[in-house]
Amino acid sequence: MKAIRFHATGGPEVLKLEDLEAPQPPARHVRVRLAAIGVNFIEVYQRTGLYTVPLPATPGGEGAGTVVAVGPDVTTLAVGDRVASFNLQGAYAEEALVAEDRAVRVPDGVDLRQAAAAMLQGMTAHYLAKSTRPLRPGDSCLVHAAAGGVGLLLIQIAKACGARVFGTVSTEEKAELARGAGADQVILYTKADFEAEVRKATSGHGVQVVYDSVGATTWEKSLNCLAPLGMLVLFGQSSGVVPPFSPALLAQKGSLFLTRPTLVHYAADRKSLEWRAGEILRGVADGTLKLRLEHDFPLARAADAHRDLEGRKTTGKVLLIP
Ligand code: NDP
Repeated sequence: MKAIRFHATGGPEVLKLEDLEAPQPPARHVRVRLAAIGVNFIEVYQRTGLYTVPLPATPGGEGAGTVVAVGPDVTTLAVGDRVASFNLQGAYAEEALVAEDRAVRVPDGVDLRQAAAAMLQGMTAHYLAKSTRPLRPGDSCLVHAAAGGVGLLLIQIAKACGARVFGTVSTEEKAELARGAGADQVILYTKADFEAEVRKATSGHGVQVVYDSVGATTWEKSLNCLAPLGMLVLFGQSSGVVPPFSPALLAQKGSLFLTRPTLVHYAADRKSLEWRAGEILRGVADGTLKLRLEHDFPLARAADAHRDLEGRKTTGKVLLIP
């Protein structure tokens, strides 16, 4: 089978298409022939070496496809089942293994491309809005990179929870998309001071939650956007790592809360995986959750997918198609 591998960390060019043996599924695992593979920022962090992975590595965890082989002791899946997961083992490939208890069935009304697109970013948006600091009517929140993969989904879920949603984006085209997803006010943080804009729009009070995946360039002003007792949810660092700072800053700025969550812990057990994936995939099926799928690349062009994602050229989901 064809798979992308990198033997050393570096720029997008380290991602090469190679011929590998299709892996035999061990106990309680299945092998999936992938119809679509999700590209996520974590794979950029792994490729550059910000997050360490054993090398050589096939990146990727997210995808959807059809079960083609079943290992010993598998009880819930069979050859031919349509499944999706964000825990595939080396998803940038024609086929990949997944533990049976980390895959979910793709319901009728959701195609495999949609399922691949919805799993990781959808479940992330779900836990951010519904679990990390559950949003309620009357809350205001700020979503950075609002036209990105997580961003567009987080806006929709936050609005469904009844919150007022501010979004930041880098271009007017992205602003249009964030408004289309339901954002009440969108700020071009490349042109305007988002802290001043949020303060003005909230009569100086600030927002209850800031969802910050941009990191280095935004985190400090994000703290300044919060109302007393508000929460900074720092869940990524697309612009670079946040430097160390004193916890006393949180007291000075209003007894603030800071968390650095990851989906790993919010979908660790089967029950939370089924709850979050179930709500996201049902939302896609009934049209209440809209996906933006405008950036498909052939598997062989994984490097170009990374270039565009890192280069702020994409909106919504980036997919690789084997
Ligand atoms: P996005 O589609 O959001 O792409 C990243 C966006 O970040 C860009 O489009 C860009 O939007 C913005 N950005 C701002 N500054 C920079 C910069 N210097 N370089 C690159 N991008 C920049 O990606 P994803 O939806 O895949 O991921 C969003 C974030 O969420 C990532 O940081 C990722 O690590 C994190 N994440 C965290 C998870 C968790 O559980 N903790 C799970 C999933 C994702 P603009 O041009 O509008 O500024």
